[in-house]
Amino acid sequence: MTAPGIERSCFWLSRRAAWPAVPFEGFGEADVAIVGAGLTGLWTALSLKDLAPDAEVVIVEQEIAAYGASGRNAGMLSETVDHGHGLAIQHFGEAEARRLARLGESNIQEMTAYLRERKIDCDYEPTGRLVAALTEGQLVEARRSVSTARHLGLDGHRYLTAAEIRAQVRSPLYLGGVEVRGGGILDPVKLVDGLRREAERLGVRVHEHSRVESVHRDGAGVELRTSRGRLRAPRVVLATSAYTHRILPSVAYRFIPLYDYILVSDPLTPAHREAIAWRGRQGVTDGRSFFNYYRLTDDDRILWGTSEAAYYRGNRVDPSCDHSEPHYAALRASFRRHFPALAGLEFPYAWGGAICSTTRLTPFFGRALNGRVVYGLGYTGHGLGTTRIAGRILAHLALNRPSDLLDLAMVRKKPFPYPPEPFRSWAVEAVTEALRRVDQGKRPSAMLRLLDRLGIGFSS
Ligand SMILES: Cc1cc2nc3c(=O)[nH]c(=O)nc-3n(C[C@H](O)[C@H](O)[C@H](O)COP(=O)(O)OP(=O)(O)OC[C@H]3O[C@@H](n4cnc5c(N)ncnc54)[C@H](O)[C@@H]3O)c2cc1C
Repeated sequence: MTAPGIERSCFWLSRRAAWPAVPFEGFGEADVAIVGAGLTGLWTALSLKDLAPDAEVVIVEQEIAAYGASGRNAGMLSETVDHGHGLAIQHFGEAEARRLARLGESNIQEMTAYLRERKIDCDYEPTGRLVAALTEGQLVEARRSVSTARHLGLDGHRYLTAAEIRAQVRSPLYLGGVEVRGGGILDPVKLVDGLRREAERLGVRVHEHSRVESVHRDGAGVELRTSRGRLRAPRVVLATSAYTHRILPSVAYRFIPLYDYILVSDPLTPAHREAIAWRGRQGVTDGRSFFNYYRLTDDDRILWGTSEAAYYRGNRVDPSCDHSEPHYAALRASFRRHFPALAGLEFPYAWGGAICSTTRLTPFFGRALNGRVVYGLGYTGHGLGTTRIAGRILAHLALNRPSDLLDLAMVRKKPFPYPPEPFRSWAVEAVTEALRRVDQGKRPSAMLRLLDRLGIGFSS
């Protein structure tokens, strides 16, 4: 039996009402053309309209808006732009880590204020989040993360004992954890649709089913050849995330696409809710390298995901990667271990999506074709908030406008490159195996300790 397409298998996409698509056809011009109608593309368009209200902005999308990670994610909005404050100190130094921590917090406040002001309803619930410790080592890490956050000036992180965290969410595996104020849960497809509606209201044109097949220099500007037309613009923004290497092959060595997989259950009964508490409805992750992430949906289903991601040789990203039975079986098993009281729960939705990861686990930005093309990608599993910052960065780069954001180290410096194939696949496999052993409570291998010293990570 063939697996259903992403529009049926992904819970968020499956309940979206049909939206009439208008493909890009013939010849057209714009002041700025954006490739990709995910969160990066839409936030960039909104930021461009903010900086230059009269600019003609056109978005071309290969499938439908939210077709990529933006429609397939877990909808857990966090303040994290640096994948972890300890990691930010290691990569960028303490002053920059402090700046990123503050930026992450202010970004969430500004973003949620914007959603309220523009009446964008995406079922946002400001629940905060929990990080559950499942081993003694993770308890040590939980305490360390609270003190690092305090050291950087963040006061919204609190250490929880086993009894305290189990009073929030009742899993026999929890030994303790961290409660983080700020952020929450939302419906990512409703977020994309709301941002799109707002962008269109401001005059942005969005063309779906319009794959960009090539990007060429054209006089002083750029020409995009799409499936049915040609679009010219002096500036182009690639908001194509894990797909970027397909139109700009030179970025392939800066990132790897990693497929994360997710299940969504049937709605919980009142007895299920009683068994697991979860009255605060927080998004939860655990402290492993390959962690589970989970949350309740607005209609009280459990979304259960894993960061134990799959890398497909050659940076492959296409519908053949959208489903993985071994990952679904592992997800069901890990769910039963966490919540034995809900062992009989069925999961009718299952899908995967590509997370875009760099060796430093933070995004990078760049220019191509002598500055006519700009791009930004690599948010790992923290793109819901970070794409808003990226949109502002990309809009300023595209219009050559000054902004404090352009001096962020992650904008100025590129991450350490990944090796080419076949070494890339071998490296990902070797590191995955080594991290799995750490998750089982073993000591990090010499290879992991070396990568750690070099500041290189392989996680989603
Ligand atoms: C399973 C999963 C769970 C996640 N969970 C979370 C979470 O809970 N919290 C969080 O903060 N982040 C999460 N993320 C990460 C987050 O979803 C992403 O970082 C974010 O959506 C990236 O947005 P984007 O717009 O850059 O990329 P995308 O959403 O991938 O958008 C890129 C778009 O470009 C289009 N495109 C590509 N090539 C072309 C072309 N040639 N022509 C035209 N269009 C093209 C694609 O179709 C796509 O729509 C998760 C990601 C995944 C996959």
